[in-house]
Amino acid sequence: MLVLKFGGSSLASVANLRNVLQVIRQAAKKGKMAVVVSAVGGVTDDLVAATVAATRKEKKIYQKCLKEVTHRHEILLPVLSSSKRQQSFKKFQKEILEKISISLDGITTVGECTPRTRDGIIGCGEVLSAHLISQMLGSLSGGVWDTRTLIVTDDAFGQANVLFEKTDPNLMRAWRRQGKGRVPVVTGFIGATENGLPTTLGRNGSDYTAAIVGAALQAKEIQIWTDVDGVMSADPKRVPGAFVLPRVSYAEALEMAYFGAKVVHPKTMTPAMARGIPILIKNTLRPEVYGTEITCKTDLSGRTVKTVTVIENLALMSLEGNGMMGVPGMASRLFGAMARADVNVVMISQASSEHSICFVIQKEAVRAAKKAMTEEFARELDLKTVEGISVQENVAIVAAIGEGMKGTPGISGKLFGALGKNKINILAVAQGSSEMNISLVVAQSEATKALNVIHGAFHLSAGNVHLIVIGKGTVGGKLLEQLSQNQARLLKEYQLCLKVIGITDSKKFLWRPEGIILSRWEKDFTKQTLPWKEREFVPFLEKSGLENLIVVDATASENIASLYTELLKHGISVVTPNKKANTFSSAFYHDLQKVLKRRHSFYLYETTVGAGLPVISTLQDLIKSGDEILEIQGIFSGTLSYLFSEMENGTAISSATEKAQAMGFTEPDPREDLSGTDVARKILILARELGYSLELKDVRVENLVPKQFRNRGTIATFLKGLKKEDLRYKEKIAAAAKKGYRLRYVAELKNGHCQVGIKELRRESPLARLRSGDNIVIYKTRRYFKNPLIVQGPGAGPDVTAAGIFADILKVANLLTRES
Ligand code: ADP
Ligand code: ASP
Ligand code: MG
Repeated sequence: MLVLKFGGSSLASVANLRNVLQVIRQAAKKGKMAVVVSAVGGVTDDLVAATVAATRKEKKIYQKCLKEVTHRHEILLPVLSSSKRQQSFKKFQKEILEKISISLDGITTVGECTPRTRDGIIGCGEVLSAHLISQMLGSLSGGVWDTRTLIVTDDAFGQANVLFEKTDPNLMRAWRRQGKGRVPVVTGFIGATENGLPTTLGRNGSDYTAAIVGAALQAKEIQIWTDVDGVMSADPKRVPGAFVLPRVSYAEALEMAYFGAKVVHPKTMTPAMARGIPILIKNTLRPEVYGTEITCKTDLSGRTVKTVTVIENLALMSLEGNGMMGVPGMASRLFGAMARADVNVVMISQASSEHSICFVIQKEAVRAAKKAMTEEFARELDLKTVEGISVQENVAIVAAIGEGMKGTPGISGKLFGALGKNKINILAVAQGSSEMNISLVVAQSEATKALNVIHGAFHLSAGNVHLIVIGKGTVGGKLLEQLSQNQARLLKEYQLCLKVIGITDSKKFLWRPEGIILSRWEKDFTKQTLPWKEREFVPFLEKSGLENLIVVDATASENIASLYTELLKHGISVVTPNKKANTFSSAFYHDLQKVLKRRHSFYLYETTVGAGLPVISTLQDLIKSGDEILEIQGIFSGTLSYLFSEMENGTAISSATEKAQAMGFTEPDPREDLSGTDVARKILILARELGYSLELKDVRVENLVPKQFRNRGTIATFLKGLKKEDLRYKEKIAAAAKKGYRLRYVAELKNGHCQVGIKELRRESPLARLRSGDNIVIYKTRRYFKNPLIVQGPGAGPDVTAAGIFADILKVANLLTRES
């Protein structure tokens, strides 16, 4: 026989119920079976809320809760084939709710809800749903098995323990009496004491009921039908990259469930394991998907960590004091006190110094725990051998779980490394003796991020890297195009999942944490955006909880550049061609460097000098390898290099500038190129790389824009005015040529001084021979003294800049996702 259990979410709509009916019919065709049901989704919560309201004497509220229960069932009535059935269910529901209402009035009168009364109320959701499903099955139904008459438990209300020696025979007897070809509908979650007082098996306990029934009736399989495709590598509601695990062992499932994977209740595994009955987790909404099989075997398939889970609403308590060191029995006294105070300890972690003992409990138990500790250690607190009890509320346990962790070294190092890089603070750590689990305590506000980071670090989500592209202009647009062309290949060949989750311009922000479809980002950008709010950007990203974030700044904006320090501080990496951040004041620059030293995040800006050419990385490699840089010389402006080549061919400076502008070689206002500021910024970036503490104003700049047009007048008047310079340049160039020289606009760093301006160069020198429009940089170093090191090539243009940014993104992605 088979046992099929349907969870609350599977019962919450007419469409879902039709699926349930279909699944039951199919299964019934193949053989004998029983169905176990939870309450309709939301009903147990409503009933719990009603009891709370009644305790507070809030009659209106609890009546509203009961109305909600009625409503949740009434919307499902269309699944019942006849109005007679509908009427009969309505009548049944009315009777049950009237009884509940009387109990709630009673609670209000005495102002207290005992666990016993509470169980009597909150278990009614299952009674209602079982009747509804039984009616829905019509002639296929074998009637409702009300487990308050079958499952016998002790009187630990709210979390009752099953007395199997009484329960199993009851269930077998009921099964034997069952009519052939009929399917009994069993209430999940509830039982009763030997004296018939209703009990519950703990929230989410219907899964356990399925296992109890399955084990008693020696089922071939226990199927848990829910709203996800199976047991997944993480809760898909919190980790977008989570995927289904086809096979997990009972032990793994138990550990996952205990540490918060709600998909199956932890107690479910024990009865199934004892009888070796496989548990299958299936999706009611997609029955065709195979799901997850839980048996005694695990599927290691090379993964050490299989899943990451989280338990929230906890508090971290600690007992601290120097006097605790080496004193035997402190821990046992502490936990003895907790047990007597009925406080459930979820996790324990003792530092090896024995200076403190930390443990984690439910948030609600803080008061009781504190009281018990203060009483137990009253003497020590007086004598100050125990210095204090501290409490940190709002923490969560995040656990990495998998059988493959046994005996595999380095797992915790990798975990800590990954969390550290994403700037998540670990408050306490514990590794279970099973070695199947490492649990970490983190602030609850960081739990989702921690889940995602761990999920990514163990390659559970194929190295997810999340990009936000600021600026969708020429360079940004090109980058998105290149990303779009390469995404699939990167995933296939390098298991790197580069997702663009945000694109923004100065007004609008397209945000899709699950990933923007790059083939149609422009379309989505026109209709589905949020307003772009620069100031709220960093907290917004922080709140998203997404791991491995890279912000690509494809603008030239100072405002965006001034956000970098904050981004980097929050563990968000930055890649940019924007020169502003590196050329702000040295105070800003030093702050930036200080944050980078913490190595939580990465900042790459190769494209700020020479676009895609490896100018900065070459310099950094030289420095790292211990070389000493003596001089740097270079041509860093494609525009100016073009202008000087054109002038050499006889074109006047004014016409050459106009031509360059028409071809899109210049900034919108060509004065920005001719002023030399852009080149000055570039040499300053390199100088700072070498450790010189210089400001932009320290760079000596030869400005080619005539004085009267600086910061004043239109572009057209400037271009006209530039004609006056034509002759002067013509003569200068001719004079140089006569001597065998050429003029070039060169940037130099020598003896700690930077300057940019026109220089006469020997015709055969590499700077003079540079191809029009290209960039060149010459490093004269201790090692490259006679033959300086030259980097040269196309140093401008959206294509090469975007390619350079792409390369930087890949470098950061590699640093973020590689095994730490
Ligand atoms: P039901 O109502 O069917 O009992 P639950 O809500 O109790 O369903 O459990 C299913 C939910 O468990 C899923 O919707 C999912 O959000 C959550 N969940 C948490 N961790 C996991 C995990 N590792 N795999 C699958 N689901 C998980
Ligand atoms: N209906 C109960 C609950 O919500 C039991 C269950 O869903 O498994 O906790
Ligand atoms: Mg459940």
